[in-house]
Amino acid sequence: MSFTIHGIGVSGGIAIGHAHLMKHDGIEVPRVVVPPHEVPEESTRFDAAVRQVRAELEELRASVPSTAPAELTAFINLHLMILGDSMLSAAPRRIIETEQCNAEWALKVQADTLLAQFDEIEDDYLRERRSDVIHVTERLMKALSGQPGYVPPPLKLGAEENLILVAHDLSPADVVQFKHHRFASFITDLGGTTSHTAVVARSLAIPSIVALHRARQTIRENELVIVDGSQGVVIVDPDQQVLAEYQRRQHQFDIERQKLKRLRGRRAVTLDGVAVELQANIELPADVVEALDNGATGIGLFRTEFLFLNRPDLPDEDEQFEAYRKVAADMDGMPVTIRTYDLGADKGDSEERVTTNPALGLRAIRLCLTEPQRFITQLRAMLRASHYGKINILIPMLATAAEADQALVLIQRARQSLDGESVPYDRGVKVGGMIEVPAAALAVGMFIRKLDFLSIGTNDLIQYTLAIDRTDDTVAHLYDPLHPAVLSLLAGVIRTADKAKVPVALCGEMAGDTALTRLLLAFGLRAYSMHIAHLLDVKQIILQSNCAQLKPLARKMLRASDPEKLKALLAKLNSH
Ligand code: PEP
Ligand code: MG
Repeated sequence: MSFTIHGIGVSGGIAIGHAHLMKHDGIEVPRVVVPPHEVPEESTRFDAAVRQVRAELEELRASVPSTAPAELTAFINLHLMILGDSMLSAAPRRIIETEQCNAEWALKVQADTLLAQFDEIEDDYLRERRSDVIHVTERLMKALSGQPGYVPPPLKLGAEENLILVAHDLSPADVVQFKHHRFASFITDLGGTTSHTAVVARSLAIPSIVALHRARQTIRENELVIVDGSQGVVIVDPDQQVLAEYQRRQHQFDIERQKLKRLRGRRAVTLDGVAVELQANIELPADVVEALDNGATGIGLFRTEFLFLNRPDLPDEDEQFEAYRKVAADMDGMPVTIRTYDLGADKGDSEERVTTNPALGLRAIRLCLTEPQRFITQLRAMLRASHYGKINILIPMLATAAEADQALVLIQRARQSLDGESVPYDRGVKVGGMIEVPAAALAVGMFIRKLDFLSIGTNDLIQYTLAIDRTDDTVAHLYDPLHPAVLSLLAGVIRTADKAKVPVALCGEMAGDTALTRLLLAFGLRAYSMHIAHLLDVKQIILQSNCAQLKPLARKMLRASDPEKLKALLAKLNSH
């Protein structure tokens, strides 16, 4: 039966495909103490789950059509072999007995031990088998929870383009891994508009929706799903008529995108001759190809923390150098602004700290300054890479003048150490700071005096100004770039930087929101950095705008405080 679910569209476009339900590596189960006399029963329950999963896998193997690729049967055989290994099918029994705990907990403990061993393995092929262990463990968990042992159809190899990933939640680290895949779309129950998960989703340029609340529970494996990322709507099991209509819209969307591609070589200049820089935000060096393909005139934000995620160790100086060098060289003299790692908060740190308010805790520059050696390693890598292109260094989340001073001292130390080794680097490397904490926006003068440029991070600036957790879907509706306080901070930072002749860019999600392009232009913004998928949409608006005409309306907006009036003024600004 067809049904519709509404969420928050975080990346536009339409995808039509089959649902694939995702689970996390971390399997959450409670530990329950089992009284001694019930321990044998618990072990029996575990054995029954193993038998049930074996039967499911055998049934699955028998149902593989003869035309299916041979890998499919090999894959099921591998899962049967993993299930048969005593490390998975016998060890949990011993844990049940010694720890007197429930079977789920025993299985989780054993699976965690096995998975940790996989992380240590050097051989790529063997390390990849980690996900097979997770699949088998998940099947066992399902069997233990008494759910009917559904047998999902095996994924056809190479058919990712037709898959809609359905997850309860995804971390930014999960999503960045999708860059190695070609999924049609992904949708999640949790998440907010500017959560880092949504930010990375946009960079994938595939339709995606967050905050659907019950998608993971209500959608079944392999069900046909339409994802309308622009409207934030998911249609499950659509009828023929609806399907045909969305196929038409998808086709139309593709045609529009193709048309926009014609603008990629055009300079972004307004009708009255104001030139604007349109740069790209990237997470990985490989993103540069798409950035260039969409006409980016530089990289305005390289979020280097993604080099640190999804791995047990830290990237060393040479590995980082190679990543930065590649981006600088590929951009061929165009500016590349590399941000020092912004770990912490929702982007995991290698050491897992548990804090009550991670967004207000030890993240970004605060974390960098507590680990000077790790920070200097990154700074050295960036400086070394500056020899191969035009690199700027960007410091995230500054709040105090002391943080800027300390960062500059460490940059100086990194320079001196390279000088001592006669390693070449660009002595003109510029150092800038992110303005994303309200205190920094209000007292921007103190950073202007110390730094070469500024970049406004509106995702965090809005989070901190309006006190809304950007990862929490229950407050996502309060995210409002048009809040008078936000507008006043933005206009103030741009005006002050302009007066001081210090370049200022904006690299939060607002930069890619075409409804706000003209407003920012009128505030005096001349450098936008955004996710690649929106570069050409924004360029189109710039090409059709007259900067001088927009200014009086923008001034009116800064004086207005009524939300309805603000919306009406914005509409007028955009209809000019
Ligand atoms: C921002 O906060 O606007 C920003 C660009 O940084 P990030 O989204 O990586 O926190
Ligand atoms: Mg930020």
